[in-house]
Amino acid sequence: MKLSEIKFSDLDLLPELHKAVASQKFEYLTEVQAMTIPTTLTGKDLAVQAQTGSGKTAAFLVTIFDRLLKVPKKKTHGVCPRAIVITPTRELAVQVASDAEGLLKGGDLPFRILLAYGGVDYAKQREEIRQGVDLLIGTPGRLIDYLKQRVYHLGAVEIAVIDEADRMFDMGFIADIRFLLKRMSKYDERQSMLFSATLSDRVMELSYEYMNVPELVEVSPDKIVADRVTQALYHLGSTEKMPFLFGLLKTGEIKKAVVFVNTKHMAERLARALNHNGYPTAVLSGDVPQNGRLKVIRRFSAGEIKILVATDVASRGLHIEDVSHVINYDLPQDTEDYVHRIGRTARAGKSGSAITLACEDYVFTLPAIEEYIGHQIPVGEVKPEMFAQFEEPPREKRQFNPNNRGGGRDNRGGRGGRSGGPQNRQRSGRGSPRGR
Ligand code: AMP
Repeated sequence: MKLSEIKFSDLDLLPELHKAVASQKFEYLTEVQAMTIPTTLTGKDLAVQAQTGSGKTAAFLVTIFDRLLKVPKKKTHGVCPRAIVITPTRELAVQVASDAEGLLKGGDLPFRILLAYGGVDYAKQREEIRQGVDLLIGTPGRLIDYLKQRVYHLGAVEIAVIDEADRMFDMGFIADIRFLLKRMSKYDERQSMLFSATLSDRVMELSYEYMNVPELVEVSPDKIVADRVTQALYHLGSTEKMPFLFGLLKTGEIKKAVVFVNTKHMAERLARALNHNGYPTAVLSGDVPQNGRLKVIRRFSAGEIKILVATDVASRGLHIEDVSHVINYDLPQDTEDYVHRIGRTARAGKSGSAITLACEDYVFTLPAIEEYIGHQIPVGEVKPEMFAQFEEPPREKRQFNPNNRGGGRDNRGGRGGRSGGPQNRQRSGRGSPRGR
């Protein structure tokens, strides 16, 4: 288990919760906890890619207990749990309840935790729930059974957790999950957290449908995915990249491509050129709001647009099926971004291709990337016939926007990033491609 450098004592928890955590001998947050707890404590919804063993259970339990302690209990008609955790198996439900009991005892927390799972104690579990419950942990079948009998209701749930969402799909529980989610308090009146070993398309669809614009947390860069992607790298001059890209498109092998660039400016310029030359393209940059992004992704998934030009900020957690190619038009400046980018293809066990164009502006990160992925990216031979002519689109009239000075680089939260330089050079290098 990877620990972070953040301590539980750094978190703004009530003394009894600090005591509960300390009783479990937790001192440092695990990596997953560090990436989730500071956000979930603010009440935000999260969809988290995390495996068993990562400390995910404590991540949502600490969040739940923090809420139950800090927010006064509301009066409800009938029995309604304040928090619910839905797990695919009874073993996992029992494990979660046992971890919760550990915290409860360690901190003398005044909550009633109950289990609802199939196979045993049908009448006993039902009677216990009838007496009232703060945190209900269960498997979908039994939870629905009692719900239908009106033993409890979900109309005032404050926190809902779906654990191992991908297994819910594998085990055919997804209609049940939807049934439960639909009967809960409204998505913006509760906090929802979803944990899953993979944030696959189907899991993401579920979270977008029932959660309140969840933030996505992907814990491990999928190095495994990187191994399934056929990678190639071409060394080019920066002004050669555009004709080379059109050459690639002309081969007809690229069915659906995400083209990554390092700046918003480049994204817009490239999309203009592609659209102008008959390749329907959309831009996904940090400027596009979340619902706009979803719309773009939907059009791309449906095949209405064939090419998506994206910056790294916009592509975090992007899940699209059947991306045949990822093209790194610009080499990323951050090693992890390379793995994230090429992981957009070859999803869900499929294979895919990643083509990287290295030019004099960005090639300097190549050694670090190759060290990070643990191998050299195979270099392809550049031949004259690989370039294609294209027409420059008419120059767009630019309006001065005082909020948009300084080159238009996505806000990268301080990670990597040079300023100026390459865009300016490329801007002055426009014009017809080299006649090779
Ligand atoms: P989980 O991934 O939730 O199944 O947790 C795996 C194991 O890690 C459990 O036995 C937890 O008790 C333990 N654990 C969770 N958080 C921490 C932490 N911050 N430090 C040490 N152990 C932890």
